[in-house]
Amino acid sequence: GGVAATPPKDLFVVDSPNVKYTDDAITTKYTYRTTAVTKDASGKYVAAPKETLYDFKVDRKIPKLGVMLVGLGGNNGTTVTAGIIANRRGLVWDTKEGKRAANYYGSVIMGSTTKLGIDSETSEDINIPFHDLMPMVHPNDLVIGGWDISSMNLADAMDRAKVLEPSLKALVRKEMATITPLPSIYYPDFIAANQEERADNLIPGNKASMAHVEQIRKDIKDFKAANNLDKVIVQWTANTERFSDVTEGVHDTAENLLKAIEAGHEEVSPSTVFAVACILDKVPFINGSPQNTFVPGAIKLAEQHGAFIGGDDFKSGQTKMKSALVEFLINAGIKLTSIASYNHLGNNDGMNLSSQKQFRSKEISKSNVVDDMVAANTVLYAKDEHPDHTVVIKYMPAVGDNKRALDEYYAEIFLGGHQTISIFNVCEDSLLASPLIIDLVLVAEMMTRIQWKVHGAESADDKYAGFHSVLSVLSYMLKAPLTPPGTPVINALAKQRAAITNIFRACVGLEPESDMTLEHKLF
Ligand code: NAD
Repeated sequence: GGVAATPPKDLFVVDSPNVKYTDDAITTKYTYRTTAVTKDASGKYVAAPKETLYDFKVDRKIPKLGVMLVGLGGNNGTTVTAGIIANRRGLVWDTKEGKRAANYYGSVIMGSTTKLGIDSETSEDINIPFHDLMPMVHPNDLVIGGWDISSMNLADAMDRAKVLEPSLKALVRKEMATITPLPSIYYPDFIAANQEERADNLIPGNKASMAHVEQIRKDIKDFKAANNLDKVIVQWTANTERFSDVTEGVHDTAENLLKAIEAGHEEVSPSTVFAVACILDKVPFINGSPQNTFVPGAIKLAEQHGAFIGGDDFKSGQTKMKSALVEFLINAGIKLTSIASYNHLGNNDGMNLSSQKQFRSKEISKSNVVDDMVAANTVLYAKDEHPDHTVVIKYMPAVGDNKRALDEYYAEIFLGGHQTISIFNVCEDSLLASPLIIDLVLVAEMMTRIQWKVHGAESADDKYAGFHSVLSVLSYMLKAPLTPPGTPVINALAKQRAAITNIFRACVGLEPESDMTLEHKLF
């Protein structure tokens, strides 16, 4: 393997009898406290505090990490690559508003802080960069590569994307020009016909095959070897595909899915083929687009191989606002009765989504994002009652990557009154998505270095295990979070963030952040 580019440096150490540090690992004995609820004979809830003891083990060695993007030559692919180069080199460039310096704004891991604890002398909160909570990879050290059906080098592709300032592009141009995407697989029926023009960089064959799976596996191995990497993570940031038509005997089991690929079944999408290739080599695969890449057989295959998968669809603009605002409204006891969401955008993603089948994937992904919050409030909503919710997306070339999202939230307040909130959200799509791509990589990689077991279990197979294959801890960054089969989906943004924070805290032996601050209330 490669040499860690950044040696572990800890900003803090946990002083507790339950936490042990070695050069290689942090091990903790952690008490997970929950509340178990039952119903007694009279139908009354009985809530009982419950404790489960776990051992966590965090591998402290920071790997040399590669990221391979499917859709490397697109708006997101070029923007995230240029952004990492700019940060790595500490670039400063001129804009009409003055000088701007590289940063990681919009990344929850790189741009936000989290409360470590309370200063024992001053009683003030001590906040640390989120990135320092765990021994995480630094994005400046990521090696980026990947595939695209368009052969354009990344310098020309960033011009095509029309996202970055000319002055910044000039500074990264030379390095960007050295990166050319690997040929990819293209099954024309899955993305909009209007994408055909750019498809000039193809692995032969226009439907699923084992040859495609093997080529992708080889590409990953070669990339790893060429860059002396310890690990690679693959992310789909290619065009939104239409949903594949999931059928029994084809997509239902791991075996059937592999057979279907072998037989060249027409309903296996390129993104599923990429996922399968990654799963077979335990390379974490994250789907940043809305389509149903993870058909049941793909999830089962990941479980069989203990491979990590995450998805679906980056949550960058409108939906992120929605999952924060709706959580606030419903938790405030305000009865949201309708959400109307209109978008228009003019980038290539928008052009692809102007085709009905691809739009449908996005519509589905954007539709269910308030369900958990509505279902949780049994005071405001009857069983199966939902606010009306409509999503419209239109292609408007002139606005380019500057997506417009217009949302109207209509709610019922006290005694039949109404509250209407209108939001006009203008956001540069790829500048919002790129930091999410980084967060997904950093958190997914971190999860590959966390293991757990039930504390004190005496059985012979009392070994550490990894988290479940489906990384629901990535939900904060994703619009339609994939969760382990049979487990609930959480869309509420604050809960999603708390899950990452508190799981990471547990791994280093710290209690969850409860926000009780009794020290400021009981004196
Ligand atoms: P884009 O169209 O600029 O880039 C997609 C790239 O994928 C293109 O370069 C295209 O040539 C390539 N491609 C298509 N099919 C491919 C295949 N089979 N293999 C390899 N490459 C392939 O789009 P974008 O703006 O970068 O967005 C990428 C994806 O992320 C879209 O599906 C979009 O819906 C999703 N997404 C974006 C955002 C955001 O930008 N804010 C948010 C959520 C989801």
